[in-house]
Amino acid sequence: MQRYLNYIDGAFVAPDSNAWLPSANPYTGENWCEIPRSNERDARAAVDAASRAFRSSAWSSFNASQRGVLLRRLADLITEHAESLACTEVRDNGKLITEMRGQLRYIPEWFHYYAGLADKIEGSVLPIDKQDYLTFTRYEPLGVVLAITAWNSPLLLLTWKLAPGLAAGNTFVIKPSEYATASTLEFAALFGRAGFPPGVVNVISGYGSEIGDALTGDSRVAKIAFTGSDSTGRRVNEQAARDFKHVTMELGGKSPNIVFADANADQAIAGAISGIFAAGGQTCMAGSRLLLQEPIYDEFIRRLVAACGVAKLGDPMDDTTQVGPIANRPQYDRVLSCIEMAHADGATLVLGGRPYTEGNAKRGLFIEPTIFRDVSNEMRIARQEVFGPVLAVIPFTSEEDAVAIANDSPYGLAAGVWTKDMGTALRMSQRLEAGTVWVNSYRAVSYLAPFGGYKQSGIGRESGYEMIKAYLQTKTTWIYSGEACPDNPFVMR
Ligand code: NAD
Repeated sequence: MQRYLNYIDGAFVAPDSNAWLPSANPYTGENWCEIPRSNERDARAAVDAASRAFRSSAWSSFNASQRGVLLRRLADLITEHAESLACTEVRDNGKLITEMRGQLRYIPEWFHYYAGLADKIEGSVLPIDKQDYLTFTRYEPLGVVLAITAWNSPLLLLTWKLAPGLAAGNTFVIKPSEYATASTLEFAALFGRAGFPPGVVNVISGYGSEIGDALTGDSRVAKIAFTGSDSTGRRVNEQAARDFKHVTMELGGKSPNIVFADANADQAIAGAISGIFAAGGQTCMAGSRLLLQEPIYDEFIRRLVAACGVAKLGDPMDDTTQVGPIANRPQYDRVLSCIEMAHADGATLVLGGRPYTEGNAKRGLFIEPTIFRDVSNEMRIARQEVFGPVLAVIPFTSEEDAVAIANDSPYGLAAGVWTKDMGTALRMSQRLEAGTVWVNSYRAVSYLAPFGGYKQSGIGRESGYEMIKAYLQTKTTWIYSGEACPDNPFVMR
């Protein structure tokens, strides 16, 4: 069986305790590789390396333009290794190969974008209100960034942190999810080849419950960039608060996808399907609450069920497969328990709701695309994140009603609005409490577009021009050029 190693200080190393965790392929059910089960000593070694590298001239002598050159080389290496990285995520995580090829084509764009931005972050000379002072600002990196990622799209989520963070001159300790580590450790091999000095990027694998506190509690970590559930995020944020670390928190969602009666029905049905069933619903931005205006409620559901009933589940390596397996056993159990919960709360099942076991799928962790209608926003299926292929359909009467239902959620990551009326679209986009609002589309992302959550969906944003500043701090320098002794409290003026 293939065995992966931690990547610390520019070398692949076994974990201190020589302990390993199996990683299962959710399509075949077989353990296909082993990853390090690191302990606190490994965690300390990774932070040591990142901290040393941050202070070393090997890294600090790279100016912003030169860091841009490294990021471009890294982008090219990702493109060169795209197919093998994509296949590893399919094997480890059950992602569809079609989705992964798309992601791997797009991931280099983030590195190119922030490579170009690295040397365009300018401080300013301040028109200061005092005589004989030259006062200016400049932006400096924060130091060691701890990037903690979720299992659903390990490389993409990491890219959103690494590209701006490295462009800004920070060093990294990366802790991928124990359920999907392999692609990040393969990715690690590219940093040395791109020319990054040892220790600038380190990857440590293992259980969050075993090494998480050692990493998040290390006072040498300046920032934590976290993607994961709100419950883990809360704990990580509490740890960060102890010594005032910077944080970016990308957490869960229960996003409303809202269809008005005047919408183009074909487009809205396609958007509702991709909103919840792309990636098997295992995405933070899933449009898991479908709000339908009453005049179209029954007909829309009928057409939606007919369209989803023919979805092809199966081998994620097959280009024609539309829905892959659930990525890991705990998540599979959780999705099934959420389906039970929806039944118990009185929602009406109109599609799916069971494990899927046809053909080769019987070995894997498949759940049928599932749709519940007659859901009220108070039911648990409308309030809790499932992170799986389960859609809750809720009726609404008016714009006012749609806003009230959509915003009545602890989350605020994203929302979709389907209408031909641009007045409705604009008013809704202003009134929805969500970090991203898509109108007549769903799921579009870009390196140019900030992404992140309102309310309990997170703190801060990722991607876009401004987000490089989330990895920088401002220094103000005052230079006095006058003859007098400035600011001496013992001189009477
Ligand atoms: P999770 O919270 O279980 O784990 C996330 C990461 O935290 C993993 O690497 C895990 O090992 C680590 N971790 C666990 N305990 C820790 C601790 N005590 N200290 C430090 N780290 C610890 O989440 P998950 O199941 O991997 O991912 C699914 C969640 O991620 C969903 O809620 C989803 O919405 C969210 N997500 C959000 C976004 C976004 O951009 N907003 C994107 C993808 C996923």
